[in-house]
Amino acid sequence: MTERDRQTTTRDAPVFRFAPSPNGRLHLGHALSALLNAEMAESLGGRLLLRIEDIDLTRCTPELERAVLDDLTWLGIPFEQPVRRQSEHFALYREALERLLAMGLVYPAFLTRGEVKARVSAFEREGGLWPRDPDGAPLYPTEERSLGEGERAEKLSTAERHAWRLDIDKALSLVAKPLTWRETGDGPTGEMAADPAAWGDVVLWRSDAPSSYHLAVTVDDAAQGVTHVVRGLDLFHATSVHRLLQELLGLPEPVYHHHRLILGPDGRKLSKSLCDTALSVLRAEGKTPSDIRAMVAV
Ligand code: GLU
Repeated sequence: MTERDRQTTTRDAPVFRFAPSPNGRLHLGHALSALLNAEMAESLGGRLLLRIEDIDLTRCTPELERAVLDDLTWLGIPFEQPVRRQSEHFALYREALERLLAMGLVYPAFLTRGEVKARVSAFEREGGLWPRDPDGAPLYPTEERSLGEGERAEKLSTAERHAWRLDIDKALSLVAKPLTWRETGDGPTGEMAADPAAWGDVVLWRSDAPSSYHLAVTVDDAAQGVTHVVRGLDLFHATSVHRLLQELLGLPEPVYHHHRLILGPDGRKLSKSLCDTALSVLRAEGKTPSDIRAMVAV
C-alpha cells in the first residue's frame, strides 16, 4: 500500500471513539462500552479513538485519568495516539458557543440549582406539575430568555456567576426539517425522531465549569471525524440535543449505537462509587482481561 492509499483508507475509514470521564474509576459498564467500540471498529476496518472527557476540572483529576488509561491498557484495547483531552480544547467549545450567541440562541442564566428547586417545589405544592426532562430533572424556567438589555447587563455585572443556556424554542424555529438520527443499538433501532424540546433550555456553558457535556461532545465528535457513536443507552435521549446542536452548527451527523447497560444487583445502572465492579478491584482479585470480556459478554 502506498502512503497515498494509506491516507485515503484512513480518511475514509469509519471512526469510533470511547469517551470516559475521569471522575472515578472505570467499572464493568465502561469495559463493555470500550470493548464494543473496539469490536465494531475492528469489524468495519475502522479507527478507534480515546477521548478523555475532563471538562469538570474539580471532579476529574490527573490521577484518575492515569488510572483510566491504566485500566484500558490492561484490558488490551488498541486506541490510537494521541489521546484527546477536552480540557485542552475549551477555546473550540467557546467558539461554538459564540456562534450560537451570535445567532441569538443563547442567554445568560442566573438561577442557582437551589432557586430552581425552590420554585418547582412551590409550584408543585400548589398542585401544579412542573415539566421534567428525560432524566427526571425539572426543566429550567424560561423567563430569563426575555430579560431586558439593561437588566441583563446589570445582572451580568453583579451576579457571582451565570451559565449560558440555549433558547430551545428559538433554536427549533431555525431547524427546517424534523430532526432524526440513525440508531443501530440495543434499544429501538432505525430512524429515530429527535425531541430536543424534552430537555428545555439546556446548559451550553456551565457556571461551575467551562462548557457543558452536550456542547463539548458534539463539537468533539465533529472535530475528530467520528462517524459511529457507540455508548450506553443512558445517553439515548441526550442524542436529541446533540442532533440539534449539529444542525445549528452545521456539523456532520454520526450513526448512533446505544448499547445495553450493565446493571448492579439492585437493578440500577452501575455508578463509579460501586467498588465491587471497578476494573481495578476485579484485577486485584485476580480476574484477567478475558474474564472481564466474559463478564460483560463481549
Ligand atoms: N463522558 C461520558 C460518560 O463518561 C460519555 C459521553 C459519550 O459517550 O457521549 O458518561
